[in-house]
Amino acid sequence: MPTTDDDLAMMHRALRRAREGQNSQGGGPIGCIIVMEGRIVAEAHNEVSAEHDPTAHAEITAIRLACQALGRDDLRGATLYSTLQPCAMCSMACIWTSIGRIVYGARRESVHRMYFEGRSPDVDQILADAYRDDMGLVGGVLEEACASLYFRPEDDPPDSMQTNV
Ligand SMILES: [Zn+2]
Repeated sequence: MPTTDDDLAMMHRALRRAREGQNSQGGGPIGCIIVMEGRIVAEAHNEVSAEHDPTAHAEITAIRLACQALGRDDLRGATLYSTLQPCAMCSMACIWTSIGRIVYGARRESVHRMYFEGRSPDVDQILADAYRDDMGLVGGVLEEACASLYFRPEDDPPDSMQTNV
């Protein structure tokens, strides 16, 4: 599925949201935007540390906000934008929510392996193999800008660094 001008605009917005998260107390540098019929219905950044909630990934928080805003528990037809490839938990949440399309920025090979290793299967595989063959998936949108938010594959992050994808 090709990338559109709207995709780029929304990913820029997700990047801004990620930077807000990075600069906020207890926030993390992951940004997520959900768009339904051309309208932004939710945006969020990672709040795991701020909320003491390991499920408060940007995508989960945005899904909750979008469902509350729309008064429904599915997001059929929506597009979810994330600055980093969604983890397995968030990918499954997208599936349960019937999100129509996922667009993400940094691919896992562009960031340090700590973000995924040993804890998260590849969302590309999850979506391709198992559940929804009607779900669109585009990775690598504004990849350089998104990847610049995270430790690089060759970086040596501090031991105490929490992943908080
Ligand atoms: Zn996640």
